[in-house]
Amino acid sequence: MTVDDETGPAVRLEDVRHEYGSTTGRFRSRSEQAVTALRDVSIDVERGEVLGLEGPSGSGKSTILHAIAGLLVPTAGAVSVLGTDLTELSDRGRTRTRRRHVGIVFQRFHLLQSLSARANVALPLVQVGLPKSARRERATTLLSEVGLEDRVTHLPGELSGGERQRVAIARALSTDPDILVADEPTGELDTDTGANVLELLTDVGRDRAVIVASHDAATLAVADRVVTLRDGTVIEDER
Ligand code: ADP
Repeated sequence: MTVDDETGPAVRLEDVRHEYGSTTGRFRSRSEQAVTALRDVSIDVERGEVLGLEGPSGSGKSTILHAIAGLLVPTAGAVSVLGTDLTELSDRGRTRTRRRHVGIVFQRFHLLQSLSARANVALPLVQVGLPKSARRERATTLLSEVGLEDRVTHLPGELSGGERQRVAIARALSTDPDILVADEPTGELDTDTGANVLELLTDVGRDRAVIVASHDAATLAVADRVVTLRDGTVIEDER
């Protein structure tokens, strides 16, 4: 199946349901009771759109982001990225689609502590097979785009929280993804630093679909549209 449907939404979730710990085996213990994280969730996200996912802890935001990134396959429903239903791909196909088309930003940055800012940003480019010199060049350019041209050889431990998140954003952009997902990207940052990071995210998101999960009003204020979740259900979808 080919990817890159130029006409449809960048991301489409159709009747997505997800249960964690759901097994069909006869020996499931009580402690392995299934948790229904998503119930019939349908959401479209267009290119150029910044979508905020709002809801209290446990409402299903991360589960949606993981499904879009192909990091989990929902129990039922379809999750399409650029017209390709990830649930119909093999594990390898999902990984390939994620590496090519989806950038991920986490709350706690998830940088490798022993690698410089530049090496962290260059890492996803190893997986797509870019030669070393081109990786270094692209990582340096991206770091300067996020305002860190003088931090290229710093280790994450030598950077502030805001700077680390900028490195993480540069890394998420390294493969020039069509889709950017961010899970509580300002959760570890103070208000001003968080605002700068959000400005950066929306700025780099111009031609992409950006999906930001947060329970913070300031984060949601930058979104073009906010989808509100409760107990795994969409209760509001507001432009
Ligand atoms: P949010 O991101 O809004 O905090 P999540 O998507 O992380 O919500 O979680 C939705 C529900 O799924 C919650 O009830 C949570 O406890 C449950 N859950 C999340 N991850 C797992 C997991 N790996 N195993 C079992 N239950 C999980």
